[in-house]
Order: sequence, then C-alpha cells, then structure tokens
Amino acid sequence: MQVLILNSGSSSLKFQLFSMPEETILCSGIIERIGANDAIFKYKTDKTTIESESQILNHKAGLKLVAQHLLDEIVGVIKLPEDIAIVGHRVVHGGIHFSDTTEITKDVKEKIKELSSLAPLHNPANLEGILVAEAIFPKAKQVAVFDTAFHQSIPEVAYKYAIPNEFLTKHHIRLYGFHGTSHKYVSEKAIEFLGKKESKIITIHLGNGCSMTAVKNGKSIDHSLGFSPVGGLIMGTRSGDIDPSIIFHLKDKLGYNLKDINTLLNKQSGMLGLTGYNDLRDIQTMAAKGNEDCILALQMNAYRIKKYIGAYAAVLNGLDAIVFTAGIGENSKYMRELICEDLDFFGIDLDIDKNNADLRTVRAINKDNAKTKILVIPTNEELEIAKQSVNLIKN
Ligand code: ADP
Repeated sequence: MQVLILNSGSSSLKFQLFSMPEETILCSGIIERIGANDAIFKYKTDKTTIESESQILNHKAGLKLVAQHLLDEIVGVIKLPEDIAIVGHRVVHGGIHFSDTTEITKDVKEKIKELSSLAPLHNPANLEGILVAEAIFPKAKQVAVFDTAFHQSIPEVAYKYAIPNEFLTKHHIRLYGFHGTSHKYVSEKAIEFLGKKESKIITIHLGNGCSMTAVKNGKSIDHSLGFSPVGGLIMGTRSGDIDPSIIFHLKDKLGYNLKDINTLLNKQSGMLGLTGYNDLRDIQTMAAKGNEDCILALQMNAYRIKKYIGAYAAVLNGLDAIVFTAGIGENSKYMRELICEDLDFFGIDLDIDKNNADLRTVRAINKDNAKTKILVIPTNEELEIAKQSVNLIKN
C-alpha cells in the first residue's frame, strides 16, 4: 500500500511516499519559499535527485508539481494517482477535539479551520494541504495526525493555567503541547529498549523547535510547550519561558506594538537573538573559537533543559531514561554532554566514548552501571504518521 505523507507549512511543503507495511521510502522531498519567484523544489528517490528553482505560486501548484514527478515515466514511482491509498497529513493543532488520529471529513476540516485562531501560522497551511490533496488524489483516504494529540493525556493539574477559570472553560486557554508525533514515536522506542511499558521517561526533542515531555507508562503527563509553541526551552529563534511582564514593558515603555513583540519572541529570539546565529552547528563552531555570546548561549540552553529534567523527574517521582532526539539531540555530542553534566543526583551519568560515537541507531550512551539510561533515538515523524494512518484505515 502506498501512503503519501504531507507536512504543509506556511511557505513550505514536505512530502514522503512510503510503501507500507514494509516502511520503505519510495521518495521524499520538500518545496520551500512557496509564493516566491524562486521557490525551491527537491525530490529524491533511490535512483534520482532533483533540485530546481522556479515560481511556485501556492500550495496547489506545489502539490501538482509533486504529483507530476511522482507520476513521471522516468523519475516517477507510481503509475496512477489512484495508486496512493492514503494521504496522511501532519496537522499542528487538534485543540481539545482530537486525542487521536482521525479520518478527514467535512466536520474535521471545519474543526481544523476553527482551531486556526489557536495556531494561526500552522493550521491554515495544514488545511490548505488537505484541500489540495483531496483535489489531486480524490480516491485516497485523507487522514489527519495531530501534533497535540499525544498530549491530551496531560492531567488538568498540569494543563490548566492559574488565570480565571472562564479563560479555560469559555476560551480554551490551556497547555496543549506540540511535537507530539515525535515524542510519541521516541517514547515508544524507548519503552521497547527498556523492555517495560511501566516506565518513567523524559523525552527531549531538540531541533529548530525544542520541547520536553514527561512520559509515564507510555502517556504524556507534562510538556514544556504550552498554549503555543513559544514557551519552555530556548529554541532556534523562539525565546522559550519569559516573564509575561516583559511584554507589557516592551509595549508601554519601549513602544513596541503587539505584532512586533510576536515577531520578536517567535522569530528574533532564542539562540538567534543571543548569538546572531540560529543553526547550532555555527554556534558550536563560534564557541570553539572563543565567542563569548555563543559559549553563554549554549550554557543557557543546557541550563534550561536541566531545570526541566529536574521538574519532570519530580513529577514522575523517578526516572528510568532520558531520551535525546531531533537534529540537535541526535547529532550534538557537545550539547548532550553539557546537559548531562552534574546530574548524577538523578542517576544520569554519561559515558563520553559512547556519546562521541557517530551512530545513527537507537543507542544508550550512559555508563554501564548508571541508574538512569541516556538514550539517543532518531525521530521519524513521517513514518509515525504513516503507521498511524495505516492503522486507522485498516481497523
Ligand atoms: P526541525 O525542527 O526544523 O525539524 P531539525 O530536527 O532538523 O529541525 O534540527 C535542526 C537543528 O539541528 C539545527 O539547529 C541544526 O544546527 C542542528 N544540527 C543538525 N546537525 C547537527 C550536528 N551535526 N551538530 C549539531 N547540531 C546539528
């Protein structure tokens, strides 16, 4: 069965075609800068790599280009649009409506649209991707996998904010959590590795966006991103936790308007704001050359993660494993070392040689006798979406 996975951003469209249940990737790619004259299209199969620059006006034109390549006689991997049985969509915000993967109906589309007020950067693009896919692959089942779904198990004591009750009951202001597909995928791998479902795990997703989840017996019970994906850890361009009063000070005393503050906290803060770079590789290189802003930013980043490890170890009342995943978590031995330093109180004891080994597999990098496992687990959100979509349609 061929399953196409789509991840539509405001100006990008990532795609991957799987043959399931074998989990073989038939092709993958991305379109960036949708709407611009010089949009970039990347398409890869095991035989071909294509990279081109052209005008791609909107998501519809983008997905048409993808379909054209999928069906092409020379570089294509399918014969007919009907060969695609399922299109699985990553949808960022499922609000309180969706605690599981869902087949897309008219009502589901309405709800995704309604939730745009909670995720204005993401849900409209996700919906656009769904509408375009329905038009191009009308025979395929369309499935939505929500980033927030895994976190619907978080209890009220953790998801409710201490503001008057009506903001929760009337306006649905609460912690929702994000990166759920990744946290679910790696926590399940960690449970497999530990060999026991009854477990206390902290998953640490460090990419451009960063977040942590406390996972008890396979369920998310707390998470560092809240109402929107800007709180918690220090990220590539997002601030993470700040005192909300800073926003009023910026407005009242420094003359910022709310739109500017939104841009400041989402796009100009985090590692970029602290160092001038948002790619961690550049920051590590500059730190190695003695750049003090970069050295301090890396320390601040690790310090914030340590604080959340402490908080979640308390919430879980114990710890079997911490899990590093995503671009930084999987690749940066430097960050892993900085984060794990001086955490022996929690049974966290890093084996430097294991940490330094460049491997792409699920692995433990703790010392053999350490109480808590330190795992590195490559995430695979697209595969997780494909698996969940197939499970839903089969059952
Ligand atoms: P996204 O959230 O966009 O999916 P990724 O999970 O791909 O992001 O992570 C991107 C981050 O991973 C970037 O900050 C990048 O610098 C970092 N990264 C990738 N490879 C390495 C590496 N070898 N060492 C350090 N950081 C890395």
